[in-house]
Amino acid sequence: RKEVRKLSTGAQGLDNLIGGGLETQSITEFFGEFGSGKTQIMLQLAVNATMPEEQGGLNSDVLIIDTENTFRPERVIQMAKAKNLDPDETLKRIHVARAYNAHHQILLAEKASDIAKEFPIKLLIVDSLTSHFRSEYVGRGSLAERQQLLNKHMHDLLKFGTIFNAVIAVTNQVSANPAVFFGDPMTPIGGNIVGHTATFRLYLRKAKAGKRIARLIDSPYLPEGEAVITLTEDGIID
Ligand code: ADP
Ligand code: MG
Repeated sequence: RKEVRKLSTGAQGLDNLIGGGLETQSITEFFGEFGSGKTQIMLQLAVNATMPEEQGGLNSDVLIIDTENTFRPERVIQMAKAKNLDPDETLKRIHVARAYNAHHQILLAEKASDIAKEFPIKLLIVDSLTSHFRSEYVGRGSLAERQQLLNKHMHDLLKFGTIFNAVIAVTNQVSANPAVFFGDPMTPIGGNIVGHTATFRLYLRKAKAGKRIARLIDSPYLPEGEAVITLTEDGIID
């Protein structure tokens, strides 16, 4: 087993919450409602991953499986400049694959290992993990098939992380669960399948101005807790 490495989010408080950064050989899931900052965090992680290890990076290339067409090179350029990186060099290291439907998304994850033989990919992002599955497998009749495909997809991602000693970061939306009467009724899509395969789960919710609260849920060995982050022009900060 290769030594686990850690990727900084760029925000000290959030890094501390998850034990120093996102771990390789694990899946870290960020879930939250629309606008909660999931894609911003993915873009920040992509930029950070290209940085040297001394600066919290992985000195690596990045593969983004983009299912919602929300990748924005302009935003990467802003974040790269804020870290004093050459924006063009940074963009060259971030490989974006657009997934057109759930099956295409599964296929891209299967093919990720081919790309990793050509480029040193230590960060694989799926933004969003569940949007296609949610829109294509509607209703109770298709739930079993959806969960089975999601399960296979998650295991492909985890396998990639293990083989290449890479960080896997995925985003997930929430839906209002009418069965929850106490506490927060917002639950992530995919339920137990996603929950059991993701090692770290972070729930993002909106606070004042650009602030977001990240809550660590169901961690195998870290205490539950929260960290506040701020979404700025320069990227994610404390
Ligand atoms: P999600 O992916 O969870 O739907 P996003 O990551 O797209 O949400 O977050 C969108 C939010 O990110 C915006 O509402 C805004 O608060 C913040 N944001 C996006 N771009 C910038 C920017 N250039 N400067 C500051 N904040 C930004
Ligand atoms: Mg998004």
